Amino acid sequence: MPVGEIKAAAKRKIKDKAVKTVTRKVSGGGRGGGKNSGKKKSPILIIVVLLIVVGAAIAAWQFGLFDSLLNMGDTEPSVTRADVDGSIEIHFIDVGQADATFIVTEAGTMLIDAGSRRSGPRVVEYLQEMGITEITYVVATHPHEDHIGGMDLILNGFTVGHVLLPDISHTTRTYERMVEAIETHNISTSAPLAGHTFEMGDVAFTVIHPSTNNNGRNLNNWSLSLRVDFGNVSMITTGDAEVPAEREMIATGINLQADILRLGHHGSRTSTAQEFLDAVNPSIAIIQVGEDNDYGHPHSEVMDRLYEAGLRIYRNDHHGNIVLTTDGTSIDIRTERAG
Ligand SMILES: [Zn+2]
Repeated sequence: MPVGEIKAAAKRKIKDKAVKTVTRKVSGGGRGGGKNSGKKKSPILIIVVLLIVVGAAIAAWQFGLFDSLLNMGDTEPSVTRADVDGSIEIHFIDVGQADATFIVTEAGTMLIDAGSRRSGPRVVEYLQEMGITEITYVVATHPHEDHIGGMDLILNGFTVGHVLLPDISHTTRTYERMVEAIETHNISTSAPLAGHTFEMGDVAFTVIHPSTNNNGRNLNNWSLSLRVDFGNVSMITTGDAEVPAEREMIATGINLQADILRLGHHGSRTSTAQEFLDAVNPSIAIIQVGEDNDYGHPHSEVMDRLYEAGLRIYRNDHHGNIVLTTDGTSIDIRTERAG
């Protein structure tokens, strides 16, 4: 039905976008050149004109002159391309009142949370439509149902390389299903602490939380949180981490400044304290939240902080699926709905 088609179409649009814009630019210049060269054009003249136009376009591309045309999003002031190859996509999948973020790179993929039990099938469908069969890293930020509800479907339905999760168990059937799937497929797991770093191609990941394996009874504050760096573009994502966890992240001394903040705990007032927002100082806020949820997320005081900071805000309840693409320098964001 339409939802799937919309997603597929959105996906195609993202793939086509940069190419399309440049093509338009080049052919526009080509028409101008043609006009000046008269009615009867020698093939050599046409080739020369084309070469000049294409050369100019490539030069403009190199020096970032198209950046303002190409990007709805932020453009770093630097004209030199970040020292990374290709581009990555970050998909904030619309899973209602739940989390699912999918990072696609040329070297592998990462799924951070898998939706709820109800929306898990949506994650599966979304990834299948992208043609995904393998997931390099699956991160289960913490054992709440709105984060790991779809985990068994993911672990049973895709070839998963490695599972990252905090060192805390839960008594629910949902949690048991995840553990059973990990055991069934003999998937390696680890529970890294803040400061641990790893890479996937040119993407660098830094664990920023938890700092210890003693984080109290509130599972939210066990949320495995990451800093993601690709070239000059960075993102902080914190699961449902609440203010005490945010304070610990600041206390680690790890650089938290990032372009993109995927808000903690669906925009709840328990999270995104002013001091944390100041530490991250993002330009883009993403909120994974469901329409008319029982919790009133995102809370107005958090939204006020985001407005005050002048951030561009994207939220799944308004925008549907949100797809961010970056080449390590500039950021482009496409959404399923206008919002
Ligand atoms: Zn949650």
